Amino acid sequence: MQTGTVYLVGAGPGDPGLLTLKGKACLEKADIVIYDALANESLLNYLQPQAKRVYVGKKAGQHTMKQDDINALLVESARQYAHVVRLKGGDPFVFGRGGEEALVLAENQIPFEIVPGVTAGIAVPAYSGIPVTHRDTATSVAFVTGHESPDKTEEDAQVDWQRMARSCDTLVIYMGVKNLPYIVQELKTAGLPDDTPVAVICDGTYPAQRTLTGTLQTIASQAQEQNVKPPAMIVVGSVVKLHDSLSWFEQRPLFGQTIVVTRNADADARLTNLLEDQGAQVLHFPTIEIVEGIPNPDMEQAMQQLASYDWLIFTSGNAVRIFFQQLLTDNRDIRALHDLKIAAIGKPTAEQLQTYHLHADFVPDQFTSEQLVAGMLAQRIGTNTRILFPCSNLSNPHIAEQFRQAGATIDVLPVYETRLSTPEAKKVDELKSLIQHGQVSWITFTSSSTVHNFVQLVGQEFLAEYHERIPAASIGPVTTATLEEYGLRPRVTASKHTYQGLVNAMRGDE
Ligand code: SAH
Repeated sequence: MQTGTVYLVGAGPGDPGLLTLKGKACLEKADIVIYDALANESLLNYLQPQAKRVYVGKKAGQHTMKQDDINALLVESARQYAHVVRLKGGDPFVFGRGGEEALVLAENQIPFEIVPGVTAGIAVPAYSGIPVTHRDTATSVAFVTGHESPDKTEEDAQVDWQRMARSCDTLVIYMGVKNLPYIVQELKTAGLPDDTPVAVICDGTYPAQRTLTGTLQTIASQAQEQNVKPPAMIVVGSVVKLHDSLSWFEQRPLFGQTIVVTRNADADARLTNLLEDQGAQVLHFPTIEIVEGIPNPDMEQAMQQLASYDWLIFTSGNAVRIFFQQLLTDNRDIRALHDLKIAAIGKPTAEQLQTYHLHADFVPDQFTSEQLVAGMLAQRIGTNTRILFPCSNLSNPHIAEQFRQAGATIDVLPVYETRLSTPEAKKVDELKSLIQHGQVSWITFTSSSTVHNFVQLVGQEFLAEYHERIPAASIGPVTTATLEEYGLRPRVTASKHTYQGLVNAMRGDE
């Protein structure tokens, strides 16, 4: 019988960007993935929708599946599927029992490959600004398990702390949180001075990363006071002192802040990326849903008469995307627009146009609908101008009104609908509880509809009680005015009405 291949893939220590390209390619081809608690679940987004997912993770003291059962599952999966991925936190061969799993596969003549990963023992200290070796002061490093039982007998002793302390400059200890007092004692007995620097880094490479530094003398009680929980990496040696100068990850401007993004993940991927780059933990709470493809007879008519317009106006990237999709569906392309001028409300919308090789003839300096209208009326629009405005069903009605007042003809063409999103009740309750407990640093509002829908989802009653605890960040004056209608005073309003402007405002850079 033919068997599939099992790929033992290292998922890296947590930050999804630390997966290798080869690991990603394996996930993209996988028929089944068998994964652990330490592998970041967001990596499963690389899977094909039909790929099977099996969680076999272990959390301290609580085993979901025994190692023998995992081994058996790997063998069985290889007999059923062509491409089996065993995804393990960090590197599969560093304290990951990857060796045992590979041996079982070899014994059963199942083809396998090892895809090394970025091990927590190197990456977690690095994210804490601690190089595990350093010229002149640390020329050797040992990776050690701290998991062995303190009640070990002489015969089953595994870690020779004495030898380790004598021969290696840096000790990187995995799985050591529970045994920290014991480990400290062993190292002291082995002759390491009390003032030897020690770091304990929890949830390394994640937005929740936390570094505790001290010495062999102090670290155990510090860890107890601070209620340190696994996963955590313990680093012992002089390199720990470099943390003070090299800590970069925890120093990023929005590090440690939980920021709510109120549009869906796709629409706000750019905002999410900007926030994460600055160190924020992003919480997605989509309040609006974009619905496209609703039959619209006006659309057909407008598309047929494109040549009769002078200007096309876009106030969102969605409108650009859906309009050009429709043009292509009608078997036409950008040549149908050769006589039209195009206005875009802001840089992101203009950039979306560029993906269709089109240059916006007008983009206001300030990215608001007022500025768009004012700028066009000032020099570009006459009484006979004909404008086509593909937009959302909720677009700002003032835009069309003002052009009409100036004598222009404007056809408002809703090409998509913005609807209230319907998150699970559990998600709404979770967010409310975070707000109640002051655990949200910012809630970002990027349009008036995000405000209306947010209020509808959390409810007026909640708002009345907790409005002072809602740390709103608004992208511009129109959104701010909408927030104020509900008695919500934003703590910042971006002076540049872009995602970058919003991020700068939250950073306090304006
Ligand atoms: N194969 C993994 C290690 C598995 S052992 C690797 O190569 O990284 C599990 C231990 O790794 C944890 O107890 C903890 O000590 C460490 N660890 C894994 N991920 C970590 C993280 N994100 N932050 C801190 N320590 C981590």
